[in-house]
Amino acid sequence: MTLSNSLAALDAAHHLHPFTDARALEAKGPLIIERGEGVHVYDNTGKKYIEAMSGLWSVALGFSETRLAEVAYEQLKKLPYYHTFSMKGHEPSIRLSEKLAEWAPEGLSHVLYTSSGSEANDTIVKLVWYYNNALGRREKKKFLARKNAYHGITMASGSLTGIPVDHKDFDLPILPVIHLTCPHHYREGAEGETEAQFTARLLAELEETIAREGADTIAAFIGEPVMGAGGVIVPPAGYWPGVEAICRKNDILLIADEVINGFGRLGTPFGAEKMGFTPDIMTTSKQITSSYIPLAAVVFSDAIYQAVADNSHRIGTFAHGFTAAGHPVATAVALENLKIIEEKDLVGNAARLEAQFQGGIRALAQSPLVGEARGVGLMAAVEMVADKATKRPFSKPGQVGQIANAFAHEEGLILRAIGDTLALCPPLIVTEADVAEILRLMGVVLERTAAAVAEQDIA
Ligand code: PLP
Repeated sequence: MTLSNSLAALDAAHHLHPFTDARALEAKGPLIIERGEGVHVYDNTGKKYIEAMSGLWSVALGFSETRLAEVAYEQLKKLPYYHTFSMKGHEPSIRLSEKLAEWAPEGLSHVLYTSSGSEANDTIVKLVWYYNNALGRREKKKFLARKNAYHGITMASGSLTGIPVDHKDFDLPILPVIHLTCPHHYREGAEGETEAQFTARLLAELEETIAREGADTIAAFIGEPVMGAGGVIVPPAGYWPGVEAICRKNDILLIADEVINGFGRLGTPFGAEKMGFTPDIMTTSKQITSSYIPLAAVVFSDAIYQAVADNSHRIGTFAHGFTAAGHPVATAVALENLKIIEEKDLVGNAARLEAQFQGGIRALAQSPLVGEARGVGLMAAVEMVADKATKRPFSKPGQVGQIANAFAHEEGLILRAIGDTLALCPPLIVTEADVAEILRLMGVVLERTAAAVAEQDIA
């Protein structure tokens, strides 16, 4: 038995993988990634891949930034662990809170840490309830989210998520949450409806929902400025400013889930800036440490902080927190990671490469398979369809996506197949040459997939 085979057998014997068909994994074994270098990773047979998904939309600095490793090692030697419960603190978490307030839009000046995006969104649900209870608004508890949104998988964040398969057989949602129409004009727009008309219809739906439920029962609206896991959905112009205005009018908090968009992904520090709105709360994670180590941060307004601080004083404590929240090693790595993003102007790099990347993605719409090519900044997707004229999806959803995914692996490209949509989200350190290579490989993958679809007569 080769090493890769024995590892695959051990894996199948003991490890239940996230977001995986366990029986398919037992049959085929996982792709085992062994090491990384810049924007590339290598599997355990030595095969090289350009990692055009940054892992899970998250490795901003690529896969070999030794400065992060060194900072982690130094912190592990100096103070490997301490917590921030009950009047304790440590320097890395203090400095990172200051840094996040500096990066965040004006007015978002307070930070609460967790170790994952899911925990951060769970924490936000509790923070928002605590805040409304502090203000005596005990009925103001419902959440508004969108269909196709991804906010994580824990009980509360999984309830906010609007992807049906993420609820199926998990008995979710358990929160009082209403999922509104996904702002995807290509899929949700009515026949002949312009983007402006579509936006107006979605904003009317929001107003009608608030009127029906009562603004005094709705706590917050949560959304990813640009949706990621739902298929890279860029809302039409005017959508977010419209949502913001309606939330403000009805005293509903606005939460931007920046777990993917944050720290430069769209060519701006945060996605909300690119989409033209200012939230009350942001969920951040992933690129905060380039995912070298787990960390998430909830960044929120002073108004929320003041009410929460008063209530903690009344009760005697803010009784929420995780053992690893604001971990010294994770916060030290985040500080160094943000320092490197600043030094190398990687937010600017995303903005500068946007035209080349998005132009190349749009050109892929010439493929007979591609119904829509979309994206913004350094995230993009092509949606493959059975019939471009009618936008008809393939009869077996996800089958063609998997074919394309297998060709991509063969060609040395890592992308993400979301059903029959192929997503790309390369590290922020990519160069013009890397972008050109990713686009060239995407062209090859689409060509080979189109040939396979024709040959196997899949429609
Ligand atoms: N929010 C968004 C927008 C995400 O994309 C994700 C993960 O992909 C999460 C929340 C959940 O983060 P985690 O997987 O760290 O729990």
